Amino acid sequence: MQNTPAATEQRYTPVSPEHLSAFSRIIPGRVYTDGEVLEDYAHDWTEDLHFLPEVVLKPETTAEVSAILGYCHTHRIAVTPMGARTGLSGGMLPVHGGVALAVERMNRILDIDTRSLQVTVQPGVINQHISDALAPYGLFYPPDPSSRGSCLIGGNLAENAGGLHAVKYGITKDYVLALQVVLPTGEVIRTGAKVLKNSTGYNLTQLMVGSEGTLGVITEATLKVLPKPSHTALMLAMFPLAEDACDAVSALFRAGLLPSALEFMETDAIAFGQKFLGIDTYPTEGVGGHLLVEVDGNEEAAILRQCERVAEVLEQYRVLDIRFADTAEKQAELWRLRKCLGEAVKGHTIYKEEDTVVPRAELAQLLAKVKEVGRRFGFQSVCYGHAGDGNLHVNIIKNDMPDDRWENELPLAIREIFEYTVSLGGTLSGEHGIGWVQRRYMDIAFSPLELELMRGIKRLFDPHNILNPSKILP
Ligand SMILES: Cc1cc2nc3c(=O)[nH]c(=O)nc-3n(C[C@H](O)[C@H](O)[C@H](O)COP(=O)(O)OP(=O)(O)OC[C@H]3O[C@@H](n4cnc5c(N)ncnc54)[C@H](O)[C@@H]3O)c2cc1C
Repeated sequence: MQNTPAATEQRYTPVSPEHLSAFSRIIPGRVYTDGEVLEDYAHDWTEDLHFLPEVVLKPETTAEVSAILGYCHTHRIAVTPMGARTGLSGGMLPVHGGVALAVERMNRILDIDTRSLQVTVQPGVINQHISDALAPYGLFYPPDPSSRGSCLIGGNLAENAGGLHAVKYGITKDYVLALQVVLPTGEVIRTGAKVLKNSTGYNLTQLMVGSEGTLGVITEATLKVLPKPSHTALMLAMFPLAEDACDAVSALFRAGLLPSALEFMETDAIAFGQKFLGIDTYPTEGVGGHLLVEVDGNEEAAILRQCERVAEVLEQYRVLDIRFADTAEKQAELWRLRKCLGEAVKGHTIYKEEDTVVPRAELAQLLAKVKEVGRRFGFQSVCYGHAGDGNLHVNIIKNDMPDDRWENELPLAIREIFEYTVSLGGTLSGEHGIGWVQRRYMDIAFSPLELELMRGIKRLFDPHNILNPSKILP
């Protein structure tokens, strides 16, 4: 499916043979116009959306990125930065064609500083590879999206990605100390410093984080890392109603507990996941919702005590059963089940995913509203997410809903869900970003003045609006 940019949106210079020759002079042998390659860079994991770039460029150095952007700035050619294309809001979709700027070859870990616990990387490093490289030193890089085996750190920085352990360890923004960025004009800047605190001027580092490739291309990042805890315990708790599971979430924190992961899965999600993995291990009959709770630390006895306290709290919320994953294999199986949910839903049918986030005590209310809206508009939803962060992924399943209702009525339902989310003190996206698909809802979260301030920032960084145009801002 391809939705086109509105007729009123800016038009860009088509990529001509002359432009291709110029790109070949900058990065000889790494300019791709072959149909199959273009097809590979035409989509991410967002719904079934698809936009062909006119050319794919694969730079290897900051100087090459700078030369490409400088050229495109001068010639008004649209450029879309791309990581591993696992995004869930269409941030990398080249909606105006133009140049797909793939950073995947900039994939070196430049420095591991074991004295100050920092790592400096290029943007094309796979998230998991950072922790793999740190493991021999007893260190790890905590932000771990479920896609960590394939997504790139540049994409994580651009989306301010969260992950399964954000509830205890925080999200991408909490680990970024310094960046090197190529601006849309081709100029190169450095932001931040290799320090843990910094009150020096406007925080351009944090402006870049989460800017979804609209303000600059990140070509280097210095990240904080941590010593890896030696022990973890994992349990799956089952509740009669999904709302009981949601209510138990905030109770755990009020009891002074800090799980290292706290994931919610409604029963339909477990059913989708088990079908996808071909297992039937966890009961769904009479169960409305599940919580996956992990605690970690360096002392086994302390972890066991924490588990007991977790169980005591969950019992106050009518927990039916708690299964401890008492071997590494059982832990791995539970994590496989949780991590496959997105793929399991996508494999079943066309779907739209909303990345709602609310104060965690409001989770049950948000879930109830999603179901109520679903009943009224006639759609099934499968909900799961990083409950400890108040982050609920709402997967709306197309099934046999006619295309015109899917395209025209569903946005009204989604708007209602977002309006309710914001009324609870929440917002549109916890970690997946706004990208291409959610920008039409930005007026729910921001006033015209706030949106105009953002447009002003975009104009300042990108006067010709060539870098990832038509993203974030409506
Ligand atoms: C199965 C699955 C599970 C997921 N689980 C999670 C999860 O738990 N938590 C979470 O937060 N996300 C999750 N995601 C979403 C996705 O993996 C993240 O958003 C990830 O950060 C995207 O990285 P990427 O390399 O694929 O980037 P892409 O999708 O290629 O690009 C994402 C955005 O980053 C921009 N970009 C890429 N590289 C750069 C750069 N160097 N400089 C500037 N901009 C750049 C692009 O223009 C685009 O706007 C999941 C996705 C899938 C498919």
